[in-house]
Amino acid sequence: MNPYIDEDLAALSEQARRFAADKVAPGYLERDKIRVLDRALMRQMGEMGFIAPELPEQYGGLGMGCLAAGVIHEEIARADLSISYVNLLASLNGQILSHHGKPEIVSPWLTKLTAGEALIAIALTEPRGGSDAANLRLKVERAGHEYILNGEKTSISAADQADAAVVFGRTGTIESGAHGITALLVPMDLPGITRSRFDCHGQRAIGRGSLFFENVRVPAEYRLGGENKGFVQVMQGFDFSRALIGLQVLAVARAALDETWAYISGREAFGKPLSAFQGVSHPLAGFETQVAAARLLCLQTLWLKDRNLPHTAEAAMCKWWGPKLAYETVHQCLLCFGHGGYDRGLMEQRLRDVLGFQIGDGTAQIMKTIIARGRAGRAAVPA
Ligand SMILES: Cc1cc2nc3c(=O)[nH]c(=O)nc-3n(C[C@H](O)[C@H](O)[C@H](O)COP(=O)(O)OP(=O)(O)OC[C@H]3O[C@@H](n4cnc5c(N)ncnc54)[C@H](O)[C@@H]3O)c2cc1C
Repeated sequence: MNPYIDEDLAALSEQARRFAADKVAPGYLERDKIRVLDRALMRQMGEMGFIAPELPEQYGGLGMGCLAAGVIHEEIARADLSISYVNLLASLNGQILSHHGKPEIVSPWLTKLTAGEALIAIALTEPRGGSDAANLRLKVERAGHEYILNGEKTSISAADQADAAVVFGRTGTIESGAHGITALLVPMDLPGITRSRFDCHGQRAIGRGSLFFENVRVPAEYRLGGENKGFVQVMQGFDFSRALIGLQVLAVARAALDETWAYISGREAFGKPLSAFQGVSHPLAGFETQVAAARLLCLQTLWLKDRNLPHTAEAAMCKWWGPKLAYETVHQCLLCFGHGGYDRGLMEQRLRDVLGFQIGDGTAQIMKTIIARGRAGRAAVPA
């Protein structure tokens, strides 16, 4: 128990944990090999109310707070980080669509999202770079009641499996920077879209790839937020996903720690359990401490969000600290298993899975710049 999780949230978390242990965990290793998300499992998650519970009931959500999304998210991630992308993308895009879309356009998508019947990707990064996101170049031209898209997005999670994507493109001049970007909801079956899949180190069931747009015509009512306002309005959603990513990777670290404590208590060397050697148990005790603290930071960030209090710097803290700490924790756990840890299996897959989030959704350097700007002001911390 902790101050952020009341009895209702604890019960929800317990329900999600049982579901994840029964339905999600058994396919974790296999999905890494076959590299496909399980759509039937997604629908079951939807039926259970586990996808974007913070969305209003009119869209199939539970009308709960963002903390509810957080406690479910960590339980799914503990079983399979790739599958928990379903939760992450639904919460991030659900917020964007519900806040910035035309209700008649986004409503059917939101309903499918919460039901686990649709997966929506987020497409910001381009081949020329991801950190300097405001400098993006995908061309978006207005032609009557449509926008015409030309260009490429790359390194997009679920690129080849998504049913639609929230795409950020340039409607203004290059000089207009962040103030010349427009966001659109783009169904992936529109003519002119082709997609590719990368061979990723981890997160292989969700995967990453490129989206290519060649004269893709998107109805103007699919715009999210105002024209040229995509960056300043729509990007706010990333504070939410950054706290969720912290919980996502820390849940993987938690699972690794739990298994490692059990293992080192049972295996012996030099006539004693491994846990009797402080060289084995103290590093784990150190990670226990940090994982507990980082998780509280993530929960606090969602708690602030639920109260409409500022949380941009806190979200950036979750995003840089969580993935780094999770990687180091799983690494230490893997070493405790000796040669067995290096075999293909749970620990090495977890290590590969969590590493991706030291890059995806913004690197530690960019997160620290956001924190520094929050404290010292934008003028004092130029890019
Ligand atoms: C697993 C994974 C999932 C992803 N999913 C998505 C997705 O769904 N949608 C999407 O749009 N993108 C996605 N990405 C892309 C990701 O957001 C970008 O890779 C990331 O923003 C960094 O951009 P870049 O790779 O172009 O690196 P660059 O911007 O070229 O940066 C390279 C290095 O230089 C550092 N650097 C750059 N600028 C500065 C600076 N000013 N100060 C200090 N250091 C700096 C960076 O921190 C980094 O270490 C994903 C990436 C990964 C690995």
